[in-house]
Order: sequence, then C-alpha cells, then structure tokens
Amino acid sequence: MTGYWWSERIGPGFAHSYQVELLYEERTPYQHLFVFKTPLWGRALVLDGVVQLTLADEFIYHEMMVHVPFLGRKKPVKSALIIGGADGGTLREVLKHDTIERVVMVELDQQVLTACQKYMPEVCQSWDDPRLELIIGDGAKYIEEAASRGDKFDCILLDSTDPVGPAICLFERPFHENIAACLTDDGVVVRQSGLPRTMPKVMPFVMKRFEEVMPEGLVQVYRAPVAAYGDEMAFVIASKDGATCSTPQRELIGKYYNPECHKAAFTLPTWWQKLIDEYEDDGTVPIETVDCF
Ligand code: SAM
Repeated sequence: MTGYWWSERIGPGFAHSYQVELLYEERTPYQHLFVFKTPLWGRALVLDGVVQLTLADEFIYHEMMVHVPFLGRKKPVKSALIIGGADGGTLREVLKHDTIERVVMVELDQQVLTACQKYMPEVCQSWDDPRLELIIGDGAKYIEEAASRGDKFDCILLDSTDPVGPAICLFERPFHENIAACLTDDGVVVRQSGLPRTMPKVMPFVMKRFEEVMPEGLVQVYRAPVAAYGDEMAFVIASKDGATCSTPQRELIGKYYNPECHKAAFTLPTWWQKLIDEYEDDGTVPIETVDCF
C-alpha cells in the first residue's frame, strides 16, 4: 500500500481520510471519477470528491434501497426503474426478486459504468440479464419522455448522486411530477436522501416534493447505517395509493436486510423528526452542507 492519503470532506471541519492506492482516474463529460483501494474499505468509487460506495459496506445501502420498497409494497414488484446506480448494486438486489419481469436502468455517465464494471465487477454480475434495459442518458429527460408515452412502473429507485452537478435536475419539481406520472396506481418510489447530520435539508425537501406530486400518497422515511458515508443515511419512500411500506409483506434475509431491520428502520430519532417538523420549505433544492447541531 502506498503512503498516499486522500481525504473526503464530510462536513464543516470534518473529513474522512483514507490510505489509498489509486487504481483509476478520469474527468468524464459530467464528473471527476476515481477508484481507489484502501485497507479497511477495499475498493471505493469517488465522484466529484464524494465516496459513492465501498466494497466493504455497499451491501447495506443497496439492500435497504431495494428490499424495503419491494417487500414493503402490498403486491410484489414486476416492473422497476432505476435512475443512476452505475455501480450495479441496486440492479443486483432488484434482480434477486424473481417477480421482476422488467427493469429499466438509466445512468447518465458511460465512463462511470465502464469503470465500475472493470474495477468493481463483484458488485454486479447481471449486466446481461434479459430483464434489464440499460439506457445511457439523463434520468430527467428519460422520465419526461416515459411520462408522455404513458409508461408505468411498480417501483422507481432513485440511486443518484446528491443534489449537486448533473443530479440537480433530479431534485427539481418537473422530475417529481414525471415520477408520479410514471408510477402505477399502487406504485412506490424511493430516493437516497443524504445524511441528515450534514445535509439536514435534503430529507425534508424530498418529502415535500413527493407530498406535492402525490397528494393521495403516503411519504415515509427510513434509515440505514452506511459507515463509509460518515453517518446514517436517510431514504424517503412514497406510495402513490397511501399504503404504508413499513411492514414487510414477504420474507427475505440479506447480508444486512431482514424483516426486523425493515420495521426498525422506520423508527426515527427525535432530532430527525424535528428536522422534518421544523423544515421551512421554499422549494429550492438544498445543496449546501451545514452543521445542524
Ligand atoms: N450510492 C450513491 C450515493 O448514495 O451517493 C450513488 C451511487 S451511483 C454511482 C450515482 C450515479 O448517479 C452516478 O453514476 C451518476 O453518474 C448518476 N447520475 C447523476 N446525475 C444523473 C442524471 N441526471 N441522470 C442519470 N444518472 C445520473
């Protein structure tokens, strides 16, 4: 291992430092990409200075991103749409469900996909699954066209980067309106909604957007401890028909996910509820990182 150390700024005056061996680096048309190897977390993907996943704990994020909406929904999921997700972890977990007949994945950046397939192949080996339709393109544009075609999905999984750079359009109102239009009547959408500790406005902002475009729906929050991200991650989930997703309807035991974890994840700490209750919504996409304590 080299003596070279790299640091990710997590919040004001706080960073994670890794002893790294750089495996690959590229400035793509959309973002700065690199993959490094490090003793504790194994290989990691970094986009624009933000760790996207590490081999050591990506399973926690991906199992909770997929199995909570898939098993929390009353009826099994047959059709799914993934926006982002170049590493393939979300796709891997989706394809574990044999009820799935069709999964569309729309990833903006071919270079990220290629780098993940080359340097982190163990994350996903299902790129040639016949149920997969892989599209390289902007998720906001895809969902706009899908809405005008009348395309519908049982579950939409928003596995994008945080609301910065190329992903900002995925946090804007038109995108949310098109998401609602592309859900079946009992469809469910879930979105990674950042770390409330250092991005306290993202979770309540996302809740407001889903509430706005699905007035008959139910918007809930659940959480998962993804240590490589620096703290607990929030997931915002919304059902179009107002059904709760907090109780698993079918059983699956993952490396992290299980029915008890599913239920427990919906129990929020008081300070998260306070962030939600006291959020002053002016509709602008929250892109700053501030200390919330
Ligand atoms: N788990 C990670 C996290 O929580 O931050 C996300 C991982 S995944 C690699 C994020 C992907 O979103 C990236 O590959 C990026 O290219 C993609 N992305 C960003 N903006 C996008 C857009 N407008 N349309 C489709 N994909 C987008």
